[in-house]
Amino acid sequence: MSETLFERIIAREIPADIVHETDTTLAFRDINPQAKVHVLVVPKKRFRNVAELAEEPQLLADVLSTARKVAELEGIADSGYRVVFNTGDDAGQTVFHVHAHVLGGEQLGLFGRPTGN
Ligand code: AMP
Repeated sequence: MSETLFERIIAREIPADIVHETDTTLAFRDINPQAKVHVLVVPKKRFRNVAELAEEPQLLADVLSTARKVAELEGIADSGYRVVFNTGDDAGQTVFHVHAHVLGGEQLGLFGRPTGN
């Protein structure tokens, strides 16, 4: 598998606005935010998507725990937030290092409808 952008962020070769870090995960702000709060949570170990990450349940749990921590740090744990794993082409996945999008800070729109409908 060729290296993705997110391995380079994890290795600190590319700058990112880091929100939180654990031994196994890193959380940083999305460069093109789709909500007032939009943070990406990645496991430091590479899996292409959440389906592959599910083969390591503890690491999947670590990603979700970091998502919860991000929500607390960003002050959106009580107001509500969405955690999204885009998986594959129809979902629009562009970076093939699994990442959870943590979105919130305002009322979020509907999702799941085809583009343009
Ligand atoms: P996805 O479409 O689910 O694969 O999400 C990839 C996300 O990575 C998009 O929301 C991009 O805006 C975001 N992204 C791309 N490059 C960077 C970067 N250098 N730093 C932070 N987020 C990025």
